[in-house]
Amino acid sequence: MEILRSERNAKREGPREWFTGDVVLESIPVPSVDWKVSATIVHFAPGARTAWHVHPRGQTLYVLSGIGLVQRRGGPIETIRAGDCVQFAAGEEHWHGAAPEHPLVHLALTAMDDEGMTAVWGPQVSEEEYRGRS
Ligand code: MN
Repeated sequence: MEILRSERNAKREGPREWFTGDVVLESIPVPSVDWKVSATIVHFAPGARTAWHVHPRGQTLYVLSGIGLVQRRGGPIETIRAGDCVQFAAGEEHWHGAAPEHPLVHLALTAMDDEGMTAVWGPQVSEEEYRGRS
């Protein structure tokens, strides 16, 4: 058994090339690299969101608090709230983030491919896309 105290848990800002707006990433350590999974709590300020991206082996999001938006390429923008779980199939292009007037906190469970990759990043979600006008 090992207890990793909260003050030692790694928090970092979401990289500018992957996110729009203020995002904090909080990694949850897993016991072994054999798990082949990344577990991260993601804090989005109102209006903040990921860029378009895909996960080679898929992803599960679990909303912890707030109100968020999610969209797969070609689909409608959908609202997500605390307790909702969103599953993305391997290779399904999408974005996720906070609603314009609300913060969002979600847990992201993301499987690694054989190279240890969890995501392949694309273009930012434009203001028009985020507002559903394109
Ligand atoms: Mn994702």
